[in-house]
Amino acid sequence: MERLPEILNAFEQALELERELGTRTVECDRALLAPVSAKSLEMAGGGQWSQGGQDTQDIQEKSRVVSQEPRAASQEPQAESRGLPTAGELAACANCQLARLGRQHVVPGQGNASSPDFMFIGEAPGADEDRQGLAFVGAAGQFLTRMIQAMGYTREQVFIANVCKCRPPNNRTPSPQEMEACLPYLRRQIAAIRPKCIVLLGRTAMSGLFPGQRIRRGTWYEYDGIPVIATFHPSYIIRFDPATDPVGLRAAKTEVWNTLKLALARLGKRKEERKT
Ligand code: URA
Repeated sequence: MERLPEILNAFEQALELERELGTRTVECDRALLAPVSAKSLEMAGGGQWSQGGQDTQDIQEKSRVVSQEPRAASQEPQAESRGLPTAGELAACANCQLARLGRQHVVPGQGNASSPDFMFIGEAPGADEDRQGLAFVGAAGQFLTRMIQAMGYTREQVFIANVCKCRPPNNRTPSPQEMEACLPYLRRQIAAIRPKCIVLLGRTAMSGLFPGQRIRRGTWYEYDGIPVIATFHPSYIIRFDPATDPVGLRAAKTEVWNTLKLALARLGKRKEERKT
């Protein structure tokens, strides 16, 4: 049992990370811990949360919200005069082939369009987003919601958008031509919304906003005077299987969270003390 403190420490860190990422309830099947006492689990920590089990333990956390008045983009009084692409303009867009490849909706993005602290930019809508006309409402969107909440915000308090406003068939990566055709819309959004900080989600967002440049995760850049930082796309995180790669999952989540903390610090924001 000489490794027990190390294992428990890793376990505690994994729980802490879930808490930072906004998880309120974690059901942990104690059977998972059995191998620990059998001295056989090589567990560097993280991710092995069962969805049930007879002997479960609830860990309840309350998430905190930095106070800020939310306002949805669609409710913005002078959206058009501020240069934001209008719904009608986007619906009529035929600047690339995605207009002819079966899109249901053009997805402009949504949230607080009046100088929010953060604007999150992803790749392109998926099937759920295409159906609903809203950015990040599918599985990746749920993880993004947790990231936003872990930072102390609600989705309505930030702006969420994509480089490409239309869904590429079969969720393929948008082509450089498609990204180039859509980039003027994103540029106009950023110019009108004036977020205090931009968080790019994944490689496509990085190359979309900074074509031809090599952008690194966790490093500060600037776009039109706005600080920009990049991290993993939520889809990358949710693709990890916690049962088979808990270490990889924890490493990826830790990196995301460290970048989000950098972003908060850049704006002088600090998470409020947790009430446990
Ligand atoms: N992935 C994205 O990049 N954007 C979405 O809106 C949904 C999934």
